[in-house]
Amino acid sequence: MDDGSIVLLVFLAIWLLLGWLVGRFSAEKGHGFTQGFLLSLLLSPVLAAIIVAIVPKPKGIQRDCPYCTERIPIKAIRCRYCQADLTAPHSLSSNGETRREDRSLPVF
Ligand SMILES: [Zn+2]
Repeated sequence: MDDGSIVLLVFLAIWLLLGWLVGRFSAEKGHGFTQGFLLSLLLSPVLAAIIVAIVPKPKGIQRDCPYCTERIPIKAIRCRYCQADLTAPHSLSSNGETRREDRSLPVF
């Protein structure tokens, strides 16, 4: 085994070790070990660590509030912005506003 092969093996070992460290860091930040590890292998450990540090922690799946259109967690039962009760899905149409809008539309 010549010197070039040994240097290459040491480089790969360090690359994998740093990728593992970035994976651990990524898991701590809530992005998952696999994402951080693969990003580190494909880009570079330094770039991957910066990306993992910058990108905010995922907050899960979100949806729009039907009353104020702000982004809220999909499992929310009350909007944190407008305090609307989201357990009653038909309250928007039962207050008569949508019916009034329907009457104002021209009927052909
Ligand atoms: Zn709302």
